[in-house]
Amino acid sequence: MSKELKTRTIHVGNDVLIGSGHPIVVQTMCNTHTADIDATTAQCVRLAKAGAQLIRITVPSMSDVPALKEIHRRLREEHGIQVPLVADIHFSAEIAMAVVPVVEKIRINPGNFHPDHAKARLLFAQFLEECKKYDRAIRIGLNHGSLGKYIVEKYGNTPKAMALAAMEWVQMCLDAHFYNVVVSLKASNTVVMVEAYRELARMMLENGEVFPLHVGVTEAGNGDSGRIKSCVAISTLLEEGIGNTIRVSLTEDPAKEIPVAQYLAARYSSAAAPVLKEREEAVLKASCDYGAPLLNHEVDDIPLADQYLKDEILQACRRRFYKPEYIACPGCGRTMYDLENTFNKVKERTSHFKDVVIAVMGCIVNGPGEMADADYGYVGEGAGKVTLYRKKEPVLRHISENEAVDRLVELIEKDRA
Ligand code: SF4
Repeated sequence: MSKELKTRTIHVGNDVLIGSGHPIVVQTMCNTHTADIDATTAQCVRLAKAGAQLIRITVPSMSDVPALKEIHRRLREEHGIQVPLVADIHFSAEIAMAVVPVVEKIRINPGNFHPDHAKARLLFAQFLEECKKYDRAIRIGLNHGSLGKYIVEKYGNTPKAMALAAMEWVQMCLDAHFYNVVVSLKASNTVVMVEAYRELARMMLENGEVFPLHVGVTEAGNGDSGRIKSCVAISTLLEEGIGNTIRVSLTEDPAKEIPVAQYLAARYSSAAAPVLKEREEAVLKASCDYGAPLLNHEVDDIPLADQYLKDEILQACRRRFYKPEYIACPGCGRTMYDLENTFNKVKERTSHFKDVVIAVMGCIVNGPGEMADADYGYVGEGAGKVTLYRKKEPVLRHISENEAVDRLVELIEKDRA
């Protein structure tokens, strides 16, 4: 792949330009409840001041649309903040249509607009017409683990299937002469993620029209592991010229995502570099230095004296596993419990298991689909209840949050006995 992947330039609102030739755009997402207008507005203000150039907000129901409108108004009129907002829509074409007049960009997975694929196509075509009317930008955002049934049956749950699924919607945009489009193909598995974006870039190049790419590792987790996993994969793509806007998803305060994304944006484009603590910078630098050679199998080992950092980078690149592999969503307005603390508790209690993938997901709507290839899943249902999964199967439903981590540990121990 060329180091100069030439893409279209798209605009989000009047001021944010995304595409090759422009600095990489840094974005993040609120983890407040959208209906809590005060909290979400306050978080947006904080994120904008921290350097977010785009802020995404989930819109889980029609009743959240007026809240989104009010957040947008307050940011512009009361705080003087012009950072474009992105509505995050899952499953509902109706909500997607409803937010078009409200925010500058809408993230959708058109395959989830309707279980009947022909109807999903029809709804997407209508959605594009609405976006044209308001001059909006869209992101076609597909995740590994939430591909449509028709595509998995045809091509399996593979990077190629992800890229092919995206290409169908890309082609629909081209046919509709709608060009204000960004595409993403996220996965928590760094190998799958990198390969999916490469496939998509290749396919778009062959098709003669390359839209900008939003690059990120989904459900990367938190702490050093989340940062390293994000950096090894995102930097591998950015080195190949793939990626025009990035989000580093961490199961932490979203403001903490921004310096990591800024580091990547500055390393691979003319974006301004953040001020980082020495240790954090060393972690990010080593991840970027060694990510591509390891993921590309150009080397099998890396010359790092810091054994912990070496272990973390090797595991992030899926070259050697020294602890369980964790998947944790960053949380959003759908999250119904204290995700960060719970995730830390799960990590503490399960760190002795090896060769196992454990997911901690914030909601029952998207969590089970998005935990992809996890062996076990801890999925919050809301109202203090949790469902535990073995692979894709719910095995313990509606258990109390107070006992859920114990039950998870028991479940894994029993299976391994
Ligand atoms: S899985 Fe997590 S990030 Fe995804 S929608 Fe649910 S709570 Fe939000």
